[in-house]
Formats: sequence, structure tokens, C-alpha cells
Amino acid sequence: MTTKSHLFYQTDSRRPVLAEARGIYMWDVDGKRYIDGSSGAMVSNIGHSNPRVLDAMRRQMEKSTFGYRLHFETEPGEKLAAKVAGLTPEGMEKVFFVSGGSEAVESAIKLARQYAVTVGQNSRWKVISRTPSYHGSTLGALALTGYNPLTRPFEPMMQPMPKIPAPRAYLDGLDIDDPATGNHYAEMLERKIIEEGPDTVLAFIHEPVGGASTGALVPPAGYMQAVREICDRHGVLLIHDEVMSGGGRTGRFLGADHWGVAPDIIAISKGFGAGYAPLGAMIAHDRLVEPVLQSGGFMHGHTYAGNPLACAAGLAVLEEIEAGGMMENATRSGDLLKSRLNDLMQRYAFIGDVRGRGLLLAFELVSDRQSMRPLPKELNAHSELVELAYEQGLIIYSRRTRDGVEGDHFLVCPPMITTAAQIDELMEMLTAALDRFAE
Ligand code: PMP
Repeated sequence: MTTKSHLFYQTDSRRPVLAEARGIYMWDVDGKRYIDGSSGAMVSNIGHSNPRVLDAMRRQMEKSTFGYRLHFETEPGEKLAAKVAGLTPEGMEKVFFVSGGSEAVESAIKLARQYAVTVGQNSRWKVISRTPSYHGSTLGALALTGYNPLTRPFEPMMQPMPKIPAPRAYLDGLDIDDPATGNHYAEMLERKIIEEGPDTVLAFIHEPVGGASTGALVPPAGYMQAVREICDRHGVLLIHDEVMSGGGRTGRFLGADHWGVAPDIIAISKGFGAGYAPLGAMIAHDRLVEPVLQSGGFMHGHTYAGNPLACAAGLAVLEEIEAGGMMENATRSGDLLKSRLNDLMQRYAFIGDVRGRGLLLAFELVSDRQSMRPLPKELNAHSELVELAYEQGLIIYSRRTRDGVEGDHFLVCPPMITTAAQIDELMEMLTAALDRFAE
């Protein structure tokens, strides 16, 4: 019997129907088992069907599932905000809940803008971002996104925003460990601020450890600190989009914690709700929020934001990460997986780069390592290899590396509970898929 589907997302291609998921594994309705090798889209950080989280959600459901924020505070909301404030840099005490990553980024832009207006800096409205980057699908977040296939259909953007290149040292033949490299890319930001006119620039937004668009790009030495200094020098707010890199996946709660750099505003989501609830947060420094609250309040909000069920899930996720030592495991298993991916470079000349931190890892395919030219576009390696892995029962996530139109990188980001034995299993499937691809 064929049944017509009324569902649609990005494309009309159909995937198997999900039956159940536990730990790092998922099963379709035909009983085929998959390793969730990208945690969905780097979401299911603590694995599927975690008993503590399910229990916390069940208990919350018995009490209440919704209380509108203008009518009630909720206990899970208060507790989760306090917990998050304790995990973020000093002074970043204000937590604004939302239901996803794009909403977190929108909230960050709007808070920055309302703050500037409140303190009399009305001329500052431009938000500089990087190419490639992904900051979300809503129009504000999309205007900051530097990823051609996603922005092109909507151009001219309602509000185009200035962009600078992401620090892709591996493509420019520069040494990632040399602080001169970090400075080289950070100076691009300073030049852009000056070119735009510093008193028109509101903020700079970037992903501390890159996500889907760059494929787990790790910034070169000195970059994070230099960017902070440049923003300070020009009165530009610094926003960290930690929607993917936050929540513990890199081995620290925030990706930026690896460099000890504090921004003014942080956006988190994905691993924060970890697939149990649509949840995100915008976390801001008191210094920004107080004047806005004093001058009549933040003129922004989403109806479902901070609902008690989502907050109870988020709280249990954070407790489980702590209780299970999952950030430590993300470091341990991440180091092992990265070294195993590096080993693949001996076997396949077309793997050009392996990068990332903790369990936010990626590898990139190239024609040859000398030139780092991408594989021919027509090979469609980004979708080809994903399908071959899928046949093996391994789910990985791919994107086109260069301007979104060619080049192929693959995110290998299993949940933070992945063991050494499960990495062996994953690598066996990945190697089988790569062998087929190499044929
Ligand atoms: N920022 C980053 C860095 C992301 O990776 C994503 C999602 N891929 C978003 C923002 C948008 O999040 P959402 O899809 O939950 O709206």
C-alpha cells in the first residue's frame, strides 16, 4: 500500500520512518539499526531516551506543561536560569529562554540593538558576521548567515549585513598554531569595522568552534582574544553563537571556554534541550540587560519560550551531563575519534583535513592535499558519502565547504556518551562507506 505524505521539509526526498531510539542507536520501522553519528544535527548530545530526563519530564507533565511567562514564573525556569548563569562567564547573569537556535540569535541581535538605542548609540545597527557561517533561518539570523545556497533565494535580503572571511587557515596554507595567523584574520574584522564606520557597527557575531557551514572550524591561536580586543577598542558588542558548540559537546560547556574569552551575549540551543524539548537561551551580561529593563523592558518574546516542560527537560539534561561526566567523555572519546579520523588520511588521499574539538569533529574531502582543491562538483561527494554511510547504518552530516556550492565536509559528532567500543563500530561503518566511495 502506498500512502501519500502531506509532510514537507527542504526537499521531497523521503527517509525511513523512525521507530525508536536509545543511547547512540536509532531503529527504523523495518528494524534496521543506525548509529546516530551526528546526534541528529548535533542535538542529541546525551543520547536518546535518557531515563533521568524522561522521568523529570514525566514528573513535570503531571504538574503543569505550560504557564505563560507574563502570568507565572515557573520553578524549572528559575532553576535552569540559575544553573546556566553558573556555567557561563562572570557577569553573564541574565538568561532569556527561547525555543531554538534561530530564536536565540534573533534575541541576541534585538537585545544588542535595544541596548545601543537605550544608551544613546542609535547610529549603531550593523552586525558583522563571517563567511561561511550559519546563524539561523529566520530573516534576521539569515541576514547574518554567510552561506550562499541558503541566502541566494531570498536576495536582496531585507537587511544585508557586512561579512568577513572565517579564519580557514588550512585552506590558506597558514599555521593554525601561530598567533600571527590569528591576528591576520582578526585584522580583517578591524578593517571591516573601520570601513563600515565604527559608530555604525553594533556587534560582531561568530561561532567559537564552527558548526555545519565550516565543518567544526577551530580558530587559530590568538584569534579569539584578538577579536575580543578589537570589539572593545571600537565599542562593538561581541556575540558568540554557541548554538552548536555550546552545551558541552566540545568538552567544555561553551566552545569559547577553551580560550577563556567572554563575549557580551551568547546564543545556545541544540544540545541544551538535547532533543528532549525545543529549548534555547540568549544569555547576556547584566551590563546590557539592566539599562534595557530600566527603560521599559526588552521588547521581544516568543509565546512558548521558557515553558516549564522544556525547562524541566533542560535542567535534567544539565544534571545528567554532570552526573555522567559527559563533558570529560566528550574530550576522551573526541580525542580517540579524531585520531582515528586522522588515521584515515593514510588510507585515503582524498581526505584533506580533520578538525574540531571534543565530539564536534569533521573531515573534508579534496582532490589533492597539495592544492586543497575540492573534489569535482559533479561527484556530489557530500550526498554520495552520506548515502553510502546510511546504507551501512551510520548517520553523518554533510555540507558543501566552498561558498556552499562545492567542496565536501562531513560532521562526525556522535552523542557525548559514546564509548571507545562504539567508536570502533562507527569507524568500521565509516571505513566501509569510504571504501565504496573510493571505488
Ligand atoms: N546557529 C548555529 C551555529 C546553528 O548551527 C544553528 C542550527 N544549525 C542555528 C543557529 C539555528 O538553530 P535552529 O535550527 O534551532 O533555529
